[in-house]
Amino acid sequence: MQAQSACENKLLRDAQAKEVLSGDEYKTLQGVAMAFGLNRIPRLYLFEGGGNSYYIAGSFSLDGRGKILISRQFADLIGGGLAFRGVLAHETAHLVVDVHGDTSCDQWVMRDPKIEEAADALAAATVGFGPLKAFLIRVEKMTGTTGGETESRLQALEKLEAQKNGQR
Ligand SMILES: [Zn+2]
Repeated sequence: MQAQSACENKLLRDAQAKEVLSGDEYKTLQGVAMAFGLNRIPRLYLFEGGGNSYYIAGSFSLDGRGKILISRQFADLIGGGLAFRGVLAHETAHLVVDVHGDTSCDQWVMRDPKIEEAADALAAATVGFGPLKAFLIRVEKMTGTTGGETESRLQALEKLEAQKNGQR
């Protein structure tokens, strides 16, 4: 617990992350937290410079809220709305799966494509497919690459959606 806390503090300090406590971004997070049935809203931080969006592994089990970090640049490129809701839902999905603290703060750069797809699926099941698809389509346009991880995540999501629609 102490190591986790120290690691989180260092990470936030190094990124010069600023906590967001109001505004549109915060309101979107409140909505996402409600959809996940969380009593307490995850802590949201913005930081300057490059990078995209992250969750701090193990942070949910530390305080029952968890921490999400998003670069200002990435937030601006995503441009709020549905796509931003998708980003927050994706990161919140990571946090709640991490509830038992199987991972810790120093593992936060680890990105396994299977884990990303699982987070997308849980997020879509919770807030709907629209926000997740809007987010991934936005990222795909931003990076301008095809055949990459984002495209396969989008395809996995569309397959899930088709399955879900088929069940009706
Ligand atoms: Zn992720």
